[in-house]
Amino acid sequence: MTDSLITQLDWDKQDGLIPAVVQNHLSGKVLMLGYMDKAALEKTLSSKQVTFFSRSKQRLWTKGESSGHTLELIAIDKDCDNDSLLVQVLPNGPTCHLGTESCWKDGKSHSFIDNLSKLIAERKGQDPKSSYTAYLFDRGTKRIAQKVGEEGLETALAAATHDKPELIDEASDLLYHLLVLLEDQQLSLSDITQNLMQRHLKANNADK
Ligand code: AMP
Ligand code: ZN
Ligand code: ZN
Ligand code: ZN
Repeated sequence: MTDSLITQLDWDKQDGLIPAVVQNHLSGKVLMLGYMDKAALEKTLSSKQVTFFSRSKQRLWTKGESSGHTLELIAIDKDCDNDSLLVQVLPNGPTCHLGTESCWKDGKSHSFIDNLSKLIAERKGQDPKSSYTAYLFDRGTKRIAQKVGEEGLETALAAATHDKPELIDEASDLLYHLLVLLEDQQLSLSDITQNLMQRHLKANNADK
């Protein structure tokens, strides 16, 4: 399969160099862009450490070779016309040599839930009559926590009675109220996803 990836790529198109977008396998964050020649791709696949052809150094460059901030290969995929690569990795430290996680200030993949969280945060402190979210914040922690409990129970009941449309509705209510509760507690969804990712990494390392 890896042999076929190398042969399928359109190496002649751009001087034997293929742009490779590096993405964090867990968060979806876009981390950096590098170029691979055939040897770099072969080395990446065999060593599972992402290796580029450095245009400034004019040689193979295993990312992290001096900093230790390597990129562990998880998966690699070519695009529709075989002239670019998407490289899924688990980064070992910051990917940018400037010390940031991504080479782009905002490499985040914004999901609808992220945008909804932002909107919910903006409702905090607004006129309680202006929206249900503003009203909830005004009622305070106890009421918001109670709503999460109620919606959790309703979600469980919908599942237990095998009512799928109801389950979708109640799970939506639950998720929304959970986002409100997190914001009320000065937490964010990213605190939760970070925690889940840490658990995931721990569980995976225990397997090794
Ligand atoms: P490293 O590969 O992390 O050991 O870094 C070695 C050198 O490669 C750095 O001093 C930079 O010149 C360059 N470098 C490292 N990471 C990046 C990056 N994400 N984008 C561009 N150049 C980089
Ligand atoms: Zn393409
Ligand atoms: Zn950078
Ligand atoms: Zn409900």
